[in-house]
Amino acid sequence: MSDCAPLPLDDTPGWQGQPRWVELQAGFGCGEAFLARWQAWRQDPQRPARLQVVAIEPSPIDLASLQQHLARTGDNSLPAQQLCAQWWGLAPGFHRLSFEGGQLELTLCVGPLPDTLRELQLEADSLCLRQPLPASPEPWDEGLLKALARLCRRGTFLTAGHDSPALREGLQRLGFVLTTGDTPGLQARYLPTWEPRRSPPLVAPWPQDTVRDAVVIGGGLSGLGTAHALARRGWQVTVLDACAEPAGGASGLPAGLFSPHVSPDDNRISRLTRTGLRITRQTAVRLLAERQDWAPSGVLEHRVHGKAGPRADTDGEATGSEEASTTLKQAAGLPPDAPATWHRHAGWVRPARLVQALLAAPVPGRIRWQGGCRVARLHHDGATGHWQALDETGQTLAQAALMVVAAGPGSRALAEPQVPLQALRGQLTSAPQADSDRLPPLPVNGQGSLIPHLPGDGGLSWHTGSTFDRGHPPQSAGEATPCKPEDHATNLSKLATLLPATAASLGEPAERLQAWAGIRCTSPDRLPLVGPVDPGRRPGLWLCTALGTRGLTWGLLCGELLASELVGDPLPVPLSQARALLASRPAPGRPAPPTDE
Ligand SMILES: Cc1cc2nc3c(=O)[nH]c(=O)nc-3n(C[C@H](O)[C@H](O)[C@H](O)COP(=O)(O)OP(=O)(O)OC[C@H]3O[C@@H](n4cnc5c(N)ncnc54)[C@H](O)[C@@H]3O)c2cc1C
Repeated sequence: MSDCAPLPLDDTPGWQGQPRWVELQAGFGCGEAFLARWQAWRQDPQRPARLQVVAIEPSPIDLASLQQHLARTGDNSLPAQQLCAQWWGLAPGFHRLSFEGGQLELTLCVGPLPDTLRELQLEADSLCLRQPLPASPEPWDEGLLKALARLCRRGTFLTAGHDSPALREGLQRLGFVLTTGDTPGLQARYLPTWEPRRSPPLVAPWPQDTVRDAVVIGGGLSGLGTAHALARRGWQVTVLDACAEPAGGASGLPAGLFSPHVSPDDNRISRLTRTGLRITRQTAVRLLAERQDWAPSGVLEHRVHGKAGPRADTDGEATGSEEASTTLKQAAGLPPDAPATWHRHAGWVRPARLVQALLAAPVPGRIRWQGGCRVARLHHDGATGHWQALDETGQTLAQAALMVVAAGPGSRALAEPQVPLQALRGQLTSAPQADSDRLPPLPVNGQGSLIPHLPGDGGLSWHTGSTFDRGHPPQSAGEATPCKPEDHATNLSKLATLLPATAASLGEPAERLQAWAGIRCTSPDRLPLVGPVDPGRRPGLWLCTALGTRGLTWGLLCGELLASELVGDPLPVPLSQARALLASRPAPGRPAPPTDE
C-alpha cells in the first residue's frame, strides 16, 4: 500500500487558456494530488478545456482505506465522493476513470513504475513525483528519472514530495532547472539545453492547426463510440449509414452482455475487456436509464467444457471476477460443484439505446446523423486532401480530410485493410416471460448466454443465444439480416448445456419464440482494428472495426483509443496493446509490407 503523505503542488501550473493539460503522477497514494488538481481545475475560470491525469500506482489502496483516509482528512467534497464511486476493479493494467462529463479523465495505470513508464505514450505538461517509501524498491534512480524525462516536453513543471541531494543532481543532469518554491519538497522545470530525443508516436497525431471535421461511416457502437470520442475533443462529425436509423446493424441487438474475459495468464484479451468494461459501464451510468436500458446486474459464467477459471492467486476483489459462491450457483439452478465464475462488474445493456444516447451527447449538434446513405466506395481527392464517400452513382455523400470506416462487415470492401475481416452471422431467441420463478435471478453466460427479466414495453422477456454462422451469403449494407426458424433449436440446445434445469422447465411453445439476427465483424486474432489503415499511402483513412463477439464490452474503448491516437492524448491502454490493435497491422503470418513513410 502506498503512503498518503500530503504532496506539495504548484498552484499555478501554467495551464490557463490551454485546450488540454496532461499531468503525469508517479504514485497515486490516496489521490490527494489528483483531488487537489481537480479542485484547482474546477475553481479556475481559465482552466484548460480538458484535464488528463495519468497516474502510475503499483498497488492501489482498497476502497475502505481510501474512504477512511478521506474521512480522516475531512474531505467529503463531490470530487472525493465521485472518485470513491469509481474506485473498483483496479487490477493490473490501465483504467480510464471519467469525470465532469468526460472533460476530466484519470488514467490509472496499475503496475510497477519502470514497466509502466515503457508502456506510456504522452507529453506531460506537469509531472508529480510522490515521495518514495523509505524501503521502496523504486527510489528515483537515474534510469527512472530518464524514463520520466522522456515523457516531458520543454517547459514541463515538476513537483516532488521528496527532496534530496541525489534527486536534485539527477534532475539537473537530465535537463531540469530547479526553481525555488515556498512549499516543501522540490519544484523544477524541464529546460534542457539540448533538443530532447523522443520516441516516435505509435501513430502520427493529426496536425493541430487544421479544420477538425470528420466523416464516420457506420452508425453502430464502433461508429458512434468514435464520433462521441471525437466530438468530446471538439471535432465536428458526420455519421453516414446505409440504414435510416442508428444501430441498424449488429448494434441493433435487443440486449447483450458486457463482461470480462478471464484467462489463466491474464492475456491481452482479458486486460482489454476489463479496460473496455469500465468505459461501457461508466458511459451507461452517465447516459442511460438503469434497469430500463442497462443494469449492473453482474454475470455468472458457467464454465462448461472445462474452461479455466480465475487463477487461485488472482485478486478477485481487484479484477471483479472470482469463483462463484454456492448460493449464486444454486440461485441459477446449478449444482454446488458446477465450475462457475462470478463477474461482479458485468451487466446487460441495450446497445441501440447506448448508440442513440451517444449521438445526442456530449454537445448537441456536434455529431450530425446522415442515415439512408449507402457508401459504395471511397475516393481520395488529391487536390483538397479530402476523402469522399461516394454512392453507387458516384455522387459525394460526405467528405472530410479524416474518414473513419466503422462499418462492421462492410468495412472490408471500403477500407481494404491487410487483416482479412470476416462476417459472422448470429441469431438470438427470446420470449415474453411467463413465470419469473423458473428463471435465474441474473444473466448467465458460458455456452451462449441467458438474459432473464429484461424490462420492455410489453412486460418482461428473456433472451438466449446466440448462433455462430460463418457461411452466411454476403448481404448489402442496410439490409435486415433474415432470421432462420431452425436457429431456435440451436439456441435452446445451448441453453440446455448452460442451464439444464432452467432449459427443462421453460418448455416454451415454438409460437411464442421470437428471433433477431445480425452480422458480426471478426478478425483472425479476435482483436479489433483501430487506427490509420495505411498512413503512408492513404493518409486520413482510419478504421475502427472487428469488434467480434465483444462489441458491447470494448466498442467504446476502441472509439476512445482512436480519438486519443488521433489528437495525441494519453492512450487508454498500454502502448503494446494499442500496437496489437493497429488497423495497419499485417495479416497474421504475413510480413509487414514496405511503407512509403
Ligand atoms: C446475435 C448477436 C449477439 C451478440 N451478443 C453480444 C453480447 O452479448 N455482447 C457483446 O459484447 N457483443 C455481442 N454481439 C456483438 C456486437 O453486437 C457487435 O460487436 C457490435 O454491435 C458491432 O458494432 P459495430 O458498430 O462495429 O457494427 P454494426 O453495429 O454492425 O454497425 C455497422 C454499421 O455500418 C453500416 N454500414 C455497413 N456498410 C456500410 C456502407 N457501405 N455504407 C453505409 N453504412 C454502412 C451498417 O448499416 C451498420 O449500421 C452480438 C452480435 C450478434 C449478431
